[in-house]
Amino acid sequence: MIHTKIAIIGAGAVGTTTAYSLMLRNLAAEIILVDRDETRCEGEILDLSDALSFSKASQIKRGTIEDAKKSDIIVICAGARQKPGQKREELLEINKKIITLIIHDLKPINPNAIIIVVTNPVDLMTYYAQKASDLPKTRVFGTGTFLDTQRIRRIVAQALQIADQSVHAYALGEHGDTQFAAWSSATVAGKPLTKFPDLNKTVLDQFLQTARAKVYEIIKCKGATFFGIAACISAICENIIFDRKYVLPLSVYLEDFEICMSMPVVLGVNGIEKIIQIPLDQEEQKALQTSANKLKSFLVGN
Ligand code: NAD
Repeated sequence: MIHTKIAIIGAGAVGTTTAYSLMLRNLAAEIILVDRDETRCEGEILDLSDALSFSKASQIKRGTIEDAKKSDIIVICAGARQKPGQKREELLEINKKIITLIIHDLKPINPNAIIIVVTNPVDLMTYYAQKASDLPKTRVFGTGTFLDTQRIRRIVAQALQIADQSVHAYALGEHGDTQFAAWSSATVAGKPLTKFPDLNKTVLDQFLQTARAKVYEIIKCKGATFFGIAACISAICENIIFDRKYVLPLSVYLEDFEICMSMPVVLGVNGIEKIIQIPLDQEEQKALQTSANKLKSFLVGN
């Protein structure tokens, strides 16, 4: 892609922080913010434009759904967010309506566009976005457990006093309370994590609990989470724009489960190129099934 146009639908905390991250990383020639609250959106554009002189590439403007449908990448982060103590699935009804309407309004979508779904509950929103759009499932996916994976990697990295990037571990399944970590295949320099003297299964499971609880802690303290997810979204955009083919845990349609949830995938210029069959032990397979059962239970009657 040469002149990349990225539309962000939902100019709230996640959308604007994503725009800021994209701008400072010089990832898009054009960033378009779309929000039903036009005044707020205009204010965000004015504020973000103060940072434009530090960006070597981007233009940023307020746009409409018409502008968004012509974009190369469409990020959907419109909708309600969790209140303190609220679970992601409690946003299902309200956000399903919003996502379905947005996808409907986006039609006909540029057939070469890629849609990144961020709105929670992200696995179910991805499923509905895939269903409502006419794009192949490989071009519509959710941020899934990418953020959760960064969280567990960071906790392990701090325990081992190494860089986060040197920890090869994935949080998988639902981006929610049933997510699990594939500890049985997690390594540092090819050495299984469970073989490190200070990291037995009990310690690792405690790490997962801490990572899983982080969203509730952040929301309790400041009302929303947006820096981490914005960094994840701009990393996803970078992968697409430069056809990096990094392996990332994203929410994709899994034929075996007939639902969207996170597995490691290869991401490139055309979207999801491959789903990697990560080896899972019995307990992890059970956890994956639990995620699938929970997500599927929400589809009944929906
Ligand atoms: P926010 O309230 O700050 O912003 C949401 C924005 O969406 C608002 O500006 C609102 O006007 C806009 N909006 C609502 N309906 C719209 C529509 N039909 N068209 C255009 N704009 C519309 O919320 P936020 O903190 O930015 O969070 C947004 C979503 O992202 C939430 O669902 C939140 O749970 C989710 N989120 C996901 C992750 C993840 O890892 N997937 C992480 C953080 C937040």
